[in-house]
Amino acid sequence: MVTAAVLTEVDKPLEVRHDIEIAEPGPGEVLVRTGASGVCHSDVSVGNGTIPLPLPMVLGHEGAGTVEAVGEGVTGFAPGDHVVLSFVPACGECYTCQRGQSYHCEKNQMAVMGGLLDGTTRLTSQGAPLHQMAMCGTFGDQMIVPSISLVKIPNDVPLKVAALIGCGVLTGVGAALNTADIREGDTVAVVGCGGVGLNVIQGAKIAGASEIIAIDTFDSKLQMAEQFGATQMVKAGDKDPVGQVQALSGGRGADASFEVIGLGPTMEQAINMTRTGGEVIFVGVPRMDVVLTLPAAFTFLYLTKALKGCWYGSSVVQRDVPKLLGLYQEGKLKLDELISREIGVDDVNGAFEAMQAGEVARSVIVYD
Ligand SMILES: [Zn+2]
Ligand SMILES: [Zn+2]
Repeated sequence: MVTAAVLTEVDKPLEVRHDIEIAEPGPGEVLVRTGASGVCHSDVSVGNGTIPLPLPMVLGHEGAGTVEAVGEGVTGFAPGDHVVLSFVPACGECYTCQRGQSYHCEKNQMAVMGGLLDGTTRLTSQGAPLHQMAMCGTFGDQMIVPSISLVKIPNDVPLKVAALIGCGVLTGVGAALNTADIREGDTVAVVGCGGVGLNVIQGAKIAGASEIIAIDTFDSKLQMAEQFGATQMVKAGDKDPVGQVQALSGGRGADASFEVIGLGPTMEQAINMTRTGGEVIFVGVPRMDVVLTLPAAFTFLYLTKALKGCWYGSSVVQRDVPKLLGLYQEGKLKLDELISREIGVDDVNGAFEAMQAGEVARSVIVYD
């Protein structure tokens, strides 16, 4: 039996169930005992309907664990291996994977169905199938996932630390190292300093930015931003963030601006706080109905501002997970510091509230 936090209806608290049945891993699938799971804002976004997914669903997509069993045809994984979950499977063979864009792996198309690669799920509860978020479901203590959603890691990396890499770190650090083109000495602006925004900040520092302007409405998040490498803190709401970024960058605007919230007005601010010839990176997940009002076309032609979407930090997980762990081991990437609270799965609703109140970088569910 699996214990997991289940979203049964939008805008309802998650329900922790202990009676969930799990199948055997099918061909190409792996049974993973979850070691730890981060609580990410995208889990909240599924909970409130911003990201519409089929219900009931075991949420959680940022995790790490231990391989318990492998299905037919699985190579490269054996019981006892430690793994990080990738919330986008990366087959390595499809058109986009072959072009270095495994974050758009064509095998991910079934994820919106809430099941695994064949669209069906391996969990059953109260007589009905339970969907698995992003082919994972890390809010459960066991999962069956496609083997192409796993990246093997050394067994000496703590699983609670490794879990964070699966979404927030790959997305945030990847936005700075992969999606953007940050150069030594650049000025970077980061709008939104939650778990992912803090990782954009530390990624920008690793990329060589000398000025990192953090923008948020919460003092608590701006304090965390400073700990992760921000050099200037701007409290939005008190002051116009666009004017502040311009003032802090010799009137030019930032070389690169990251929007890490997913709101129309802040996305438009990010465009306006970017200098001529700079780039704007959209990292936050907006509601499906958010539409932007863009500045004059001239802005994109003669002023050559580049707009870049950033999905999963443009990460190639088999390359980037080991790279990020290496940066962690060299002391260049703060991962332990991202863990504000360690909780049990029963506390997941409290973790949602703490995130929305700006109290935490990350709450991490640690399983026995
Ligand atoms: Zn996430
Ligand atoms: Zn692929």
